Amino acid sequence: MQLTELKGIGEKTAKKLTLLGIEQVNDLLFHLPLRYQDKTRITYISDLSIGQTALVEGEVIKTYLINSRKPMLVCEIDDGTGTLALKFFNFYHSQRLKMKTGSNIRAYGEVRLGKYTIEILHPEYQHYGEKTLPLESSLTAIYPKSEGINQSTIQKALNQVLLLLDRKEIKVEEFLPEHILTEQQLPNLSQALHYVHKPPADADTNALIAGTHTYQKRLILEEVLAHLLAMKQLKQKTQELYAPELPIEKKHIYEFLKQLPFELTNAQHRVIKEIHQDIANNHPMQRLIQGDVGSGKTVVAAIAILAAFYQNHQSVMMAPTEILAEQHLNTLKTWYRSDEIVFLSGAIKGKARIEALKQIKHGVRIIIGTHALFQKDVEFNALGLVIIDEQHRFGVHQRLALRSKGQFEALQPHMLIMTATPIPRTLAQTAYANLDISIIDELPPGRQETSTLVISNSKLPQIAERIKTNCQKGAQAYWVCTLIEESEVLRAKAANDTFEELRQWFPELRIGLVHGRLKSAEKQSIMEQFKSHKLDLLIATTVIEVGVDVPNASLMVIENAERLGLSQLHQLRGRVGRGNAKSHCVLMYQAPLGDVAKKRLDIMRSTTDGFIIAKEDLKIRGAGELLGSKQKGSVQFRLADYERDKNIFHSAQKLAAELIINHPHICQKIIDRWITSNDEISNV
Ligand code: ADP
Ligand code: MG
Repeated sequence: MQLTELKGIGEKTAKKLTLLGIEQVNDLLFHLPLRYQDKTRITYISDLSIGQTALVEGEVIKTYLINSRKPMLVCEIDDGTGTLALKFFNFYHSQRLKMKTGSNIRAYGEVRLGKYTIEILHPEYQHYGEKTLPLESSLTAIYPKSEGINQSTIQKALNQVLLLLDRKEIKVEEFLPEHILTEQQLPNLSQALHYVHKPPADADTNALIAGTHTYQKRLILEEVLAHLLAMKQLKQKTQELYAPELPIEKKHIYEFLKQLPFELTNAQHRVIKEIHQDIANNHPMQRLIQGDVGSGKTVVAAIAILAAFYQNHQSVMMAPTEILAEQHLNTLKTWYRSDEIVFLSGAIKGKARIEALKQIKHGVRIIIGTHALFQKDVEFNALGLVIIDEQHRFGVHQRLALRSKGQFEALQPHMLIMTATPIPRTLAQTAYANLDISIIDELPPGRQETSTLVISNSKLPQIAERIKTNCQKGAQAYWVCTLIEESEVLRAKAANDTFEELRQWFPELRIGLVHGRLKSAEKQSIMEQFKSHKLDLLIATTVIEVGVDVPNASLMVIENAERLGLSQLHQLRGRVGRGNAKSHCVLMYQAPLGDVAKKRLDIMRSTTDGFIIAKEDLKIRGAGELLGSKQKGSVQFRLADYERDKNIFHSAQKLAAELIINHPHICQKIIDRWITSNDEISNV
């Protein structure tokens, strides 16, 4: 049935709905409420708690303006149990006039703690007279916002669609096998849809608002299932492609390990074995390595590359920053004792670039670089292995671009993706259901936990003094200047100011400065000086956030740490504690600290376990952010929530496996229902 057959939906609105993936009347049923408003009951002012969203009513006791920078309208109401202030920054004069003392107002909004009373900022409100207003008989569904379509249009359309469903004029097909519904005691699909769009008056409102109602669970299960099936289908499709077989002889591994200055951990051995098994195969490997900061992922990548190298295939390793790419170049050069490595980054220009491109085209076997590697004119020759370091820094499209470059003679390269974000298992299994996952769950021996202090910026001179004393005793330190400005110029300036200041304070220290505005050669030279201990203290912007490895550095100061997110702090702190010395990290903050910032710093102080930090980050920021902001598309759910619905994700895993085997024809239908062409399913 066409959308335009509904009342209130014309051609224009129908077009806008199409942009949301809603093409037919049936699709509207799957446009699910994001949350609910409870306007079924009035709460007494004295019963309100901070943070609660509630419907209140009362008599206006006074209305006035507060003239601060921007005038604010305040209307205080009293319901006999207490008073509450309604506040408005944007208002019309006429609004104020209507809020007469003695008149009645009903308001809906989130209760906050104001200076003198509790208050609601910008409430929805209505006036009423002698007779109070009727209450809603059920929760009000609130739909995801979208350009140019208002709530009431969607609400009205859905009312009609639900009627059609009742009258059986439209149908939704049940895809989940009967026995699963019975086993899990789940309602059928049309009941569930009805319930969540228009909860009955006696519904368990708390459960609905929390998203834990059985009827919601029924839908969440199907949604998660659809994503899993889509990802698995993707994996299946990749496995049908061919890749060069890259088996490796044991002696080549031994030779390499013999000259390495350390022994591999068991975890590294295990993961290397998994990779070598994969790439000896003639189907493309699609493997994700998760290993916390400092767990030693680079060497694992290096040993993977050996296999391609001896089979005369190219390997390319891509890092998100120039500094990291250069570090990899230097590390690999020492490990391989080979010069058959070409470097390509945005900083390589002119003749040098032409030469690099030529070598890549002619089949140089090891290529290291940055995003510059997937520019149009980069042509590979027998690319066998693509390695992406710190994958969360890359978008899906960038990774795809690199892989598609690797195609030659109908063969796909093998793909290895490395990340330091230890994503909780259920999340990883869903978000990366198209990948095989290896985990390096062991740090090299001898590492000591970095201890973390949280200290106010006002103590900066004392901290600086301590850093100096330690540096004079042979320690090396990072001093990280944070500025969440988009502009690299401003960031560089902030770091430069600190640099000048610290240089004046401590002329006896060898201090370096690195930021994103430096020329590549300068950056490289500073990093080399720091690595070889020709510098004691390195002032840096967050350019050193990922991957940088100077094991002797054991001190880190992060200024304005309250501005950074958890995983960023964890990454930064991971720059120290890489050697055998006890390391310290000082998180400096600008008081006063907000609640969330305080929580973050507390978490950082209490643990160095990347897994715990990632879990907390997941709670604070949600899955999309955790997986890398550019990748949101791959994990955006209408209803499901990784934290809340852990159990459902779990059963969806099992269910997906069962459906693929026993009901393959249903799989595609479920995918089509839930995943519109607009959804970006991660394909790496
Ligand atoms: P990440 O996993 O964060 O990328 P790196 O690969 O940079 O970690 O390794 C961190 C440091 O640990 C490097 O200096 C590396 O040479 C060293 N390293 C790696 N594996 C081991 C090991 N098994 N024993 C001792 N040191 C190791
Ligand atoms: Mg690394």
